[in-house]
Amino acid sequence: MTVSFTLTPEQEQLKAAARGFARDHLRDLAVAVRAEQGPLARALLFRPTFERAVAAGFLKGFIPTPFGGRASSGVDAAIFVEEWAAESPDFVISMAGPLIALMPVYEVGTPQQIERFVAPFLADSGAPLATMAYSEPEGSANFAAEGPGLGVRTTAEPDGDEWVINGRKAWASHLCGWDGDGPDVMTIVCRTPGGISLIVAEREHLAGRIEVEEYYDLPGLKGALTTRVRLRDVRVPRANLLGEEGQGVQLTRNAFFPSGASIGIFAVAAMRQAFDVAYRFALTETRGGPVPIIEYQAVSDVLADAKGRIEAVRLLSWRALDAVMSMHPSGPELALHAKVFGSRTGVDVITELLGIVGVTAYDEEFPIVRHLMDALSYPVIEGSNVGVRRRQLQALLTTPGYDPLAASGMA
Ligand SMILES: Cc1cc2nc3c(=O)[nH]c(=O)nc-3n(C[C@H](O)[C@H](O)[C@H](O)COP(=O)(O)OP(=O)(O)OC[C@H]3O[C@@H](n4cnc5c(N)ncnc54)[C@H](O)[C@@H]3O)c2cc1C
Repeated sequence: MTVSFTLTPEQEQLKAAARGFARDHLRDLAVAVRAEQGPLARALLFRPTFERAVAAGFLKGFIPTPFGGRASSGVDAAIFVEEWAAESPDFVISMAGPLIALMPVYEVGTPQQIERFVAPFLADSGAPLATMAYSEPEGSANFAAEGPGLGVRTTAEPDGDEWVINGRKAWASHLCGWDGDGPDVMTIVCRTPGGISLIVAEREHLAGRIEVEEYYDLPGLKGALTTRVRLRDVRVPRANLLGEEGQGVQLTRNAFFPSGASIGIFAVAAMRQAFDVAYRFALTETRGGPVPIIEYQAVSDVLADAKGRIEAVRLLSWRALDAVMSMHPSGPELALHAKVFGSRTGVDVITELLGIVGVTAYDEEFPIVRHLMDALSYPVIEGSNVGVRRRQLQALLTTPGYDPLAASGMA
């Protein structure tokens, strides 16, 4: 098989279409969202554009081709996410719910479950939402812990043909949906008599059963709708259990690999925008001196280092998404590195770029600090680096027979 990093004609087309949509529909929207007061009002501003993106077929870009979507390769997904996230990462996060919530459906869903739960996201109209309800207000890094008061607290009790779900969930995008009655599909990590399990609740089960306790007012990713909610007596058919009872821990970890790898691309998008601003500033601004500041070695060093690190994170993330989406055994390890290395590098690079712009960068109207506010989220979302992702890397490193060359294919 040939390895090539040159985009195919189809990928060039995808890039142009994604960039065109982002320029025409996301750029001004992002400005309007930042100007809006209140997290719910900001999130609702996305809806008309969300509907336009669905009508244009972009939602299918989050669904793998074997399940009726258009996500044919990890590199395609990376190109698409980078172009949109460069203009509005919060819009991408709002739309990308299926990337996590449907992963366990693909992995262990019955043919009937796959057909039913994926169908809303193959539609060409509306603004369908999927949510992976894993995080809880009391913590989620130790969600698999067993013992009184430990780990997942949300419960699902069997009652005849139904599960009755009670508990509190937090942070996941669109837990309350557009209107408080929930998303179309919510994959809920919960405790059943047989252990930690995943159960899908659909909108018809969630309506009237979600109480929003708080809308989080985020410092970046302003339009991403994250809340803390209580689920009260959500009744779901027993047939909506994914896989077996007790399979929930592994399914949850697996569900977050593609989105974890994509965090590297979100970081690239933020770095690329910040680089563009800092580079143009350095080329044109003299700040009262005799030459543009790029003529100073200290300034150009920062730009050169930033550019190198952006390229490195992009390539690592392409590789990770490619491996994850093709179910290659190296997928989990590469996805973890793309998440941890990509998110840390994003914060470091943008902070240094701010440094060469100087005090002007600290004006919210100057278009650079907003990228740092977005990037600051990447180490702590999709499983924080400290509490979740590095522990997963430690588990890999301590697996008997671990081969450090295997992930790269160089063993
Ligand atoms: C915009 C946005 C979107 C999100 N989307 C989703 C989503 O779709 N679905 C979802 O469920 N969640 C979502 N989240 C939440 C996100 O995935 C968090 O990463 C997740 O809740 C885990 O948080 P945490 O690792 O900080 O865990 P916590 O349990 O809150 O832990 C807090 C900290 O304690 C320390 N810690 C705890 N235990 C250990 C340990 N055993 N070892 C080492 N350190 C430890 C770590 O420093 C850790 O970061 C989202 C958050 C945001 C902001």
